[in-house]
Amino acid sequence: GGEISVSARAAPLGQRHLLLLVEDRTQAKRVEAVRRDFVANVSHELKTPVGGIALLAEAVLDAADDPEAVARFAKRIKIESTRLTRLVKEIVDLSRLQAAETPEDPQLVDIDDVVQESVDLMLTLAEGRRMSFRVSSSDDLFVYGDSSMLVTALSNLLTNAIAYSPEDTRITVVARGVEGLVEISVTDQGRGISAEDQGRVFERFYRVDAARSRATGGTGLGLAIVKHICANHGGEVTLWSQEGHGSTFTMRLPRAQAEPPTPNPTPSRR
Ligand code: ADP
Repeated sequence: GGEISVSARAAPLGQRHLLLLVEDRTQAKRVEAVRRDFVANVSHELKTPVGGIALLAEAVLDAADDPEAVARFAKRIKIESTRLTRLVKEIVDLSRLQAAETPEDPQLVDIDDVVQESVDLMLTLAEGRRMSFRVSSSDDLFVYGDSSMLVTALSNLLTNAIAYSPEDTRITVVARGVEGLVEISVTDQGRGISAEDQGRVFERFYRVDAARSRATGGTGLGLAIVKHICANHGGEVTLWSQEGHGSTFTMRLPRAQAEPPTPNPTPSRR
């Protein structure tokens, strides 16, 4: 009896192994296709500013006896190289985020600090477009993770809110605890995003309006980075938007408890 039951089990097991192997291969193929896509996108995205800089440098050489033109071209070279630097930094950030599953050295992060720091970073940019912030947060919101990553994520959302809204509008930032989560939302009164595009804006290099994104110094990677930072923290980012009325991006992260005050490790002896 024993022998039969062994062989009866062995057959499906063998099939399962084969199935797993096949699944593994399709998964590997998919990963490889995504990687190849990314490399193709990256080289395309890098070629634009590099090509621009090369042309502008030639224009400088041709205009050597016209100092005004030289200054004008040099200024544009500076703009293009700033964009290139940002693009390279974001590509590196994104590949690091994709390689890691969690932050390397997680710490207890005070979300109120993250909100204040991110808003402070944006003040100059916002002032330039006469935009105002309304911020609501509280001091009992904590997350376990990497505070500089979370500042990057929130800053990316704020940069977009500023870039894709008309001047003189308001941006509302709300951080609050909802059950076991910390919710941080950014609401703008901007152009909004169509239902069709809402599913795609988190993809790398996807832009609704490439010319506008480029004009504001966008790289098309901002939201992909936000998505990966949230995922690395065990959370997610979602989008609610109505075209012509504005957008709300919400990050939801598992809430951590503030550590109780640590007891004195070396109690005094008498
Ligand atoms: P970009 O560098 O182009 O801003 P992102 O990944 O940050 O790249 O955003 C992708 C695209 O999503 C943008 O190009 C823009 O079309 C759209 N988008 C992002 N945020 C907003 C927003 N707050 N309002 C309207 N459109 C937005």
